[in-house]
Amino acid sequence: MLTLKDPSLLRQQCFIAGEWCDADGGATITVTNPATGETLGTVPQMGAAETRRAIEAAHAAWPAWRRQPAKARAAILRKWNDLILANADDLALLMTAEQGKPLAESKGEISYAASFIEWFAEEAKRIAGETLASPWPDKRVLVTREPIGVSAAITPWNFPAAMITRKAGPALAAGCPMVVKPAELTPFSALALAVLAERAGVPAGVFSVITGASRAIGGEMTSNPIVRKLSFTGSTAVGRLLMEQCAPTIKKLSLELGGNAPFIVFDDADLDAAVEGAIASKYRNAGQTCVCANRIYVQDGVYDAFAAKLVEAARKLKVGNGADAGVTQGPLIEEKAVAKVEEHIADALGKGARLLLGGQRHELGHSFFQPTVLADVDAGMLVAREETFGPLAPLFRFKTDDEAVALANDTEFGLAAYFYSRDIGRIWRVAEGLESGMVGVNTGLISTEIAPFGGVKQSGLGREGSTHGMDDYLVIKYICMGGI
Ligand code: ADP
Repeated sequence: MLTLKDPSLLRQQCFIAGEWCDADGGATITVTNPATGETLGTVPQMGAAETRRAIEAAHAAWPAWRRQPAKARAAILRKWNDLILANADDLALLMTAEQGKPLAESKGEISYAASFIEWFAEEAKRIAGETLASPWPDKRVLVTREPIGVSAAITPWNFPAAMITRKAGPALAAGCPMVVKPAELTPFSALALAVLAERAGVPAGVFSVITGASRAIGGEMTSNPIVRKLSFTGSTAVGRLLMEQCAPTIKKLSLELGGNAPFIVFDDADLDAAVEGAIASKYRNAGQTCVCANRIYVQDGVYDAFAAKLVEAARKLKVGNGADAGVTQGPLIEEKAVAKVEEHIADALGKGARLLLGGQRHELGHSFFQPTVLADVDAGMLVAREETFGPLAPLFRFKTDDEAVALANDTEFGLAAYFYSRDIGRIWRVAEGLESGMVGVNTGLISTEIAPFGGVKQSGLGREGSTHGMDDYLVIKYICMGGI
């Protein structure tokens, strides 16, 4: 079982209106460790009624929270950041136990998660307005930026802590209370964040975490007119549904949806660096991130050399329980995820792809899967169209720059894209030609709290992190002052 330095971080109740509570009917959901199948504990199976209570508590807490000077909100957020960092070891253990990622990645995620709280604590103090050159002699024209109001967040299991802080940081900094529904597979990281928020002095109702039935909770969050903003990270299918559900009450939306990231290796690339970037981008979190390389396009002249080097590097990945030392690839989140990887591999092999590495479930059982590399993959295969969300690197071949960009853009998604080249002209042309919200040039890792994270096309709306991340929680008010 899980041994934490501070066992009170493992909470099996929800946090609503500053109170720890069970579901109205007492129902629970069991949370398991994907690496062992062991039960870690239970969390409440809540629904619409409890969600309404959390929303109403947020609404009641809003006036006092927004009235606090930004500096006071920032001080509380700063304390929350410090507590997250002070408890990083426990939070990482909890995350690896419920999510499966290697402990080193969990620790990385905890500091990444804290960085959003720190960043937006700082940004809170920089929310500013404008005075404009008035067209009238007797009137002045002012623009202020105000908190939008009660916000709701629905978050996924692949980053159980950071996807929450990336939303709650700017919401709370801007002066908006937030109700969070974490993924049912990874609720303990979210509840631990609530423990620390409470300790940091976040007032009752300003930050609530509610676990349970996604349709009932999502239904209330999207239909309740008190909620002025919904921020969602997850699949495009669910994002589309939530957008529809928000239409009647015209909520402001931030959507971080699916990706299908291209990773292009040009013939002038530093191949060793490209392999290193591909490994980091593809196999991190066992391939379960929305910015993971999903389609690897390699130019004809370096195709075979790159494939050989990638196989050699992927072979060195150590699959196992993320809690064990040296493990670099944990299990997939659940059986369904394994089935999707298998489907993509079978489809590709059936249409002429070549298996260079892996291709099978791992001998460890459960939802472990071998790091896999496929060659001779083409646009007609499933993996070209859908996000695999698993440790499968499919290698496509291309000849010209225009062909690479056209192939990369041939998708309804547009989140992240990566490419490797040393030619400055090519770098500009390709970076400008890619239809994506984020581009990594000669790097496979791009996420940081200081940069705007988000997509174009069906990968979403809005930006998280950076100076732009606050805008999603603010509304603009124009004040015209006459009688001067
Ligand atoms: P993923 O592929 O990451 O599991 P999902 O979009 O299925 O993506 O899930 C992301 C989050 O959305 C999770 O918290 C999940 O519980 C929630 N969710 C799934 N379906 C719905 C729904 N119909 N309404 C509201 N939330 C949902």
